[in-house]
Amino acid sequence: MNEQIKTDALNSAHHLMVGGVDTLTLAKKYQTPLYVYDTGAIRAEIAAFKQVFEENHVDYQISYASKAFATVAMYQLIAQEHIHCDVVSGGELYTAQQADFPMAAVSFHGNNKSLAELTMALDAGVGTIVVDNFGELRQLTTLTTQRQQPTTIMLRIAPGISAHTHDYISTGQADSKFGFDLDSGQADQAIKAAQAAPYLKLVGIHCHIGSQIFEVNGFEMIVDKLVSEFARWQRELDFYPQIMNVGGGFGVKYTAEDHPLQPTDFVDAIIKETRAQTAAQQVPMLEIWIEPGRSLVATAGMTLYTIGDEKDIPGIRKYLSVDGGMGDNIRPALYQAKYEAVLAKNPALPAEQVASIAGKYCESGDMLIWNQQLPATAPGDVLAVLDTGAYGYSMASNYNRNPRPAVVFCEQGHSQLVVQRESYADLTRLDLPLSVPEKTK
Ligand SMILES: *Cc1c(COP(=O)(O)O)cnc(C)c1O
Repeated sequence: MNEQIKTDALNSAHHLMVGGVDTLTLAKKYQTPLYVYDTGAIRAEIAAFKQVFEENHVDYQISYASKAFATVAMYQLIAQEHIHCDVVSGGELYTAQQADFPMAAVSFHGNNKSLAELTMALDAGVGTIVVDNFGELRQLTTLTTQRQQPTTIMLRIAPGISAHTHDYISTGQADSKFGFDLDSGQADQAIKAAQAAPYLKLVGIHCHIGSQIFEVNGFEMIVDKLVSEFARWQRELDFYPQIMNVGGGFGVKYTAEDHPLQPTDFVDAIIKETRAQTAAQQVPMLEIWIEPGRSLVATAGMTLYTIGDEKDIPGIRKYLSVDGGMGDNIRPALYQAKYEAVLAKNPALPAEQVASIAGKYCESGDMLIWNQQLPATAPGDVLAVLDTGAYGYSMASNYNRNPRPAVVFCEQGHSQLVVQRESYADLTRLDLPLSVPEKTK
């Protein structure tokens, strides 16, 4: 059986289960394509992170990078688990507000926050604004001074280190649109400007070196570099950061080819390196913040599709088409991301065919999986593409005017609709009719 599936994930009828609910029941009840989440698995990931920090007796904060998957119910779940969250736009902030997420536990990120977004964040009273560049720093200084509103900030820096990962999703190197460059002295300049701003309270430094990282090495390099800068900043700038925010990017297992560490292994290494370096550099032990996105939700989610038409080209390839595709999961087309799929009615059946899973969108690149081993399939069978919980729904589009799928949370045998399926009426809701009258003949 596919090793991505947990051993207890089949019921007595051999159907694939999620959060104790039969996926075939879900497909029938909510239709396909459908995003389904095992929310117990998300809670377990959060608990595992907390445990490492607590066992190591360090001050910490876990801030869910909500761009991985953001809906009202998801912010509510995060609030139930008493961790923080990151938002990167007015829209994510608004969604968190709709969820009554505690604003003090929000960090606001982004490399081009608009005046309206900064004002919205100040009105909302978000806990931390992570300032990305000089323009934003000036704007925020002006705003907070006008409003006489004390505001906690961190500075995002580009540490000149990139994690070994795909170019499009690698963000820590010097040549990046994100953050104040460290080596050229921009970070020092930003610290001085923040210190001079009467209402800004600079509590820490943030960096995020990339995504889907498989080695602790990049994080250890970050810690080494940051702590030595912290020591220098104490000496030269009288700046004593309390918080070191090392971002997210902890890799997850999408296919049998991926061999990630446990997310908690990263944290363990980060804590140990921070202890060692702060002691060596005579810097007080820091509060460590992490921002996991993908690792909290990716493997907790899957997408259910119904198999439709097939095309078998003798000696070349067999295509199985499903009722979704790049509109609900752009990652294969965007990043050549790899997934695995199983037949929901019995994932344990032996493979009898190799098929490539095509979406229904009008692009040849709309392929979800190449060369998937599967048992025999027939039109109408439900196919589960595994581990789609991160950057699936959050990157979904209405390309080809396909409605976006619904989202269902499952836990302890109960399912709950948390995002409705879009209707055709939703698709034209914002459209306005042509106002120019037809030419008179
Ligand atoms: C995207 C992002 C994250 C989360 O990255 P994952 O790879 O999903 O863990 C964390 N912090 C920042 C600033 C990000 O932009």
